[in-house]
Amino acid sequence: MNSYCVIGSGISGATIANLLSKKNSVHIYDKARGPGGRCSFKRLNKLKGFDHGAQYISPKSIRFKKFIENLLKKKILKKWSGKHIFLNKIKKENKNHVKIIGCKGNNDISKYLIKNIKCNFQSELEKIKFINNKWKLDFKNNQIKYYDKLILTCPFPQLKKLLKNLIEDPFIKQEIKMDANITVMIEIKKTNKNISSYFFDDKILGWAAKENSKKRFKNNNDLWTLQSTNFWANKKINKNRENKEKNSKILIDRFFKLTGIKKAKIITSLNHGWKYSSNSRPFKIKSYWNTKLNLGVCADWFVGPRVEAGWISANDLYKKINK
Ligand SMILES: Cc1cc2nc3c(=O)[nH]c(=O)nc-3n(C[C@H](O)[C@H](O)[C@H](O)COP(=O)(O)OP(=O)(O)OC[C@H]3O[C@@H](n4cnc5c(N)ncnc54)[C@H](O)[C@@H]3O)c2cc1C
Repeated sequence: MNSYCVIGSGISGATIANLLSKKNSVHIYDKARGPGGRCSFKRLNKLKGFDHGAQYISPKSIRFKKFIENLLKKKILKKWSGKHIFLNKIKKENKNHVKIIGCKGNNDISKYLIKNIKCNFQSELEKIKFINNKWKLDFKNNQIKYYDKLILTCPFPQLKKLLKNLIEDPFIKQEIKMDANITVMIEIKKTNKNISSYFFDDKILGWAAKENSKKRFKNNNDLWTLQSTNFWANKKINKNRENKEKNSKILIDRFFKLTGIKKAKIITSLNHGWKYSSNSRPFKIKSYWNTKLNLGVCADWFVGPRVEAGWISANDLYKKINK
């Protein structure tokens, strides 16, 4: 049995780990506290929380549609209904756009796919070396591990750092820009507006989602997830840690102004900066597999800036490994 190490428990890592685990021994490592990567769910308490990364899935390809339908049947996923207000005049609204979310949180797909796989969280991979046909992995928490085969699913700039001087393939030499996003999660007094989400036409605020409208929990207050535009976040992200309060205030003020919701006391406010939120340009290949090094890479950025892209990339890698 081959021993695989998969770095990352987002949709790409969870998908490839699930496929490989049918015939191999697979372990997952992730630097985060829990599964999901950019589909993670920020918990306020046992039930309540915010989808602070990916907002929803709208499957496009036939194979991904099938995969999602199966999870809908299994009640891992569900449709997000309600009033979705489209205020953006530049982008066209697709009225047939279904919005699919996790029944408990948007990291439900990852959780489902890796439920039988050994996962090590809070384990950040720092250095890798290929010695005597084995991968030597050095983690930030001082762990050292050895595996036959290694799969990486990190955002492109982080991958480039790890693979420095290890592979010569043209894909790794590319300069791919990944856009940032600043997400603010707030709890405010309940309003009468029966709205699930807003898609704005604004330079600063891109999107707002009412978490209560997902009907995962009951709450006396409203929970809103506010996501900036990439344009604004790209300028602010490097100093977001120091300027958390200031940046949150800008997004919150914008939210009240654009929605017309009466300014209310902010009961809770959290800020999360995504330095590498999405890629601006897809690659020519959908994944990377190096037979000599037993090294694979799959991630959304090969295909596009969506959950579906990560799933497609992982399935493509699985095919390459089994060729
Ligand atoms: C704010 C925001 C909104 C979005 N909205 C949508 C949306 O509405 N619909 C949609 O389809 N998509 C959306 N996306 C995009 C979607 O989230 C991504 O395309 C998808 O989640 C990427 O999955 P992935 O597995 O390829 O990467 P990731 O989810 O980033 O997974 C990579 C994992 O690797 C881990 N990792 C990285 N480096 C290391 C290391 N050195 N050691 C250990 N672990 C490491 C990370 O912690 C992470 O868990 C959004 C993204 C963001 C940020």
